[in-house]
Amino acid sequence: MRTHTKETQMSLTPEKALEILKEGNQRFMNNLKANRNLLQQVNDTSTGQFPFATILSCIDSRTSAELIFDQGLGDVFSIRIAGNILNEDILGSMEFATKIVGTKIIVVLGHTRCGAIVGACNHVELGNLTTLLNKIQPAIFNEKETTENRNGSNAEFVNNVTNINVRLTIERIRRESPIIAELETNGQIKIIGGVYNVESGQVSFFED
Ligand SMILES: [Zn+2]
Repeated sequence: MRTHTKETQMSLTPEKALEILKEGNQRFMNNLKANRNLLQQVNDTSTGQFPFATILSCIDSRTSAELIFDQGLGDVFSIRIAGNILNEDILGSMEFATKIVGTKIIVVLGHTRCGAIVGACNHVELGNLTTLLNKIQPAIFNEKETTENRNGSNAEFVNNVTNINVRLTIERIRRESPIIAELETNGQIKIIGGVYNVESGQVSFFED
């Protein structure tokens, strides 16, 4: 698998970038890792990086973007924070990754059995974690389907909140970053949500 160059990055469309991620996740699920010489990629990227994707995912030890999409060095900007929440520093990182460096796609990736989502559903309060989990409350508020057992032990409720959290995060990216919104409107980038299943290894993208 070749390291991305300025030419390969520039030639990619947002749709092709999504295809590359889908193909990588298929390889991961089928245990068919691409043949990649990471030490060679250290050399290839020593004077510059031309990644094609920016992925916001959880810190969960099972959800490393490079592993689950079978990517190498210099391929993706990986932003990771518990519950894949958004703040202005993360938005700034995304603006750098898209406007300055030229990645073609932003993926907001939730995952099943997310401890942060479960914690938020249970209204856990613990030190600085309290502030972080509060950022997931809008997703809980917007979950209108579940009338009983609105807590972390209700798997369906947790899954719904996980999906809504991803969708609300994407809405906030568009609303709070005019820079990114313009790139998307002009067709220079795509923003897409998805959920990683920790039981199957599969990423399901929200294609709507
Ligand atoms: Zn998580």
